[in-house]
Amino acid sequence: MLIDLHTHSNISDGTQRPRELIRAAAAAGVDVLALTDHDQTTGWEEARNAAADLGVGFVPGMEITCHASVGGSVHMLSYLHDPHYQPLLDVLDVTRTSRESRAQRIVGLLAEDYPISWELVQEHTQPGSTVGRPHIADALVSVGVVINRDEAFSSMLSSRSRYYVSHPAVDAVDAVRLVLEAGGVPVFAHPMASVRGRVVPAEYFEELIEAGLAGLEIHHRDNSVTGKKFLTDLARKHDLIVTGSSDYHGAGKPNRLGENSTDPAMLQRILSAGTGSMASI
Ligand code: AMP
Ligand code: FE
Ligand code: FE
Ligand code: ZN
Repeated sequence: MLIDLHTHSNISDGTQRPRELIRAAAAAGVDVLALTDHDQTTGWEEARNAAADLGVGFVPGMEITCHASVGGSVHMLSYLHDPHYQPLLDVLDVTRTSRESRAQRIVGLLAEDYPISWELVQEHTQPGSTVGRPHIADALVSVGVVINRDEAFSSMLSSRSRYYVSHPAVDAVDAVRLVLEAGGVPVFAHPMASVRGRVVPAEYFEELIEAGLAGLEIHHRDNSVTGKKFLTDLARKHDLIVTGSSDYHGAGKPNRLGENSTDPAMLQRILSAGTGSMASI
């Protein structure tokens, strides 16, 4: 069984629409796929229908952009939550609105040195999708400033760049609580992705677990080898769900569908714990 529980469509910063993503998953031999766009769930319906047509199992999900009180950014996956739970929708609205003004500010700074405009970025962003630095990267690629997203992220779009602007986001502990209230299953995405910047300290994991964190995404290409060892011990200590996923973004990243997989018994635990929406397996 190939079970891939972390993927993006162009509802956020993936490059394929949900139906195309499901088609690619079927072609890659994925049996069960979760769609986990950043900060919104408007891709669920199209993905669910396509998955039914193509015989792929579908788990509705989302990846919530969060701040950690100890500093740094945390991505919290949520599976099977109620997409209409208003307190969660309220914080997602704030995040998406501030993502938009933040992206405009980054573009304003970049425009002093590069031939880029907000209009150009919008041409590379699906209307209504969650905007992020990858869309700015695509605009930079289109005018020949960089060759791909990765080059943009290692230069002008890096968090250490002088063009970088941050944005407000929900506190990660609050996100865990909101996901649980919405009947969802909170899983910490790529928790030891040191390649992306700093990771949160061990004590902070305990705080999230105390709040009800259900799982850890251990099998992810961005987690360091020593980080995976730490996470494996932590999962065993607290009997947490362990997942493995690709974090596929279509052509936006080298990550391939199904490059990591989740154990069927772990998927079963997610399906049993989630009560806010239905999977189609
Ligand atoms: P943002 O949410 O605007 O801060 O941008 C972060 C997003 O950019 C993440 O969701 C990643 O999927 C994506 N990203 C980060 N690093 C890279 C990279 N090197 N190449 C392509 N996409 C990246
Ligand atoms: Fe992304
Ligand atoms: Fe992420
Ligand atoms: Zn992701």
